[in-house]
Amino acid sequence: MPDTIFDQILSGQIPSYTVYEDEQVYAFLDIHPLSPGHTLVIPRERRAFLHELSDESAAAIGRVLPRICRAVLAATGAEHYNVLQNNGAPAHQAVFHVHFHVIPRIGDAGLGIGWPARRLEAAEAEPLLGAIRAALD
Ligand code: AMP
Repeated sequence: MPDTIFDQILSGQIPSYTVYEDEQVYAFLDIHPLSPGHTLVIPRERRAFLHELSDESAAAIGRVLPRICRAVLAATGAEHYNVLQNNGAPAHQAVFHVHFHVIPRIGDAGLGIGWPARRLEAAEAEPLLGAIRAALD
């Protein structure tokens, strides 16, 4: 995996606004926030995509993510927020090191989402279920 700007943040080569850190996880303020308190939570493990992450890093993030969300809400006064995690350039990923965005909704400020949903039909669901369950084994 090529170096990303988050490697430079993790190594201290470039500064960041540290929100939280432990042995496996680092969290810092997004430099281009969608709303006040917009925070990025990343593993120290160098992986581009969520599905590449070790169980240990995933568990470490899962353990601390709700606590970071609570802190961001308490600090900003926001009641609502989104957690966003992009994988791949077509899915809006710009930095290829796994990261979770914690984005408070404060008035009109926050995450804008397109959600072009349609109804799931059984003819589509059943083969998909079979394929996904088989891949989980
Ligand atoms: P994504 O589109 O999910 O890859 O988001 C990458 C995020 O990283 C963007 O929201 C950027 O604003 C943020 N970002 C990029 N460089 C920095 C930096 N040096 N410090 C803090 N956040 C950054």
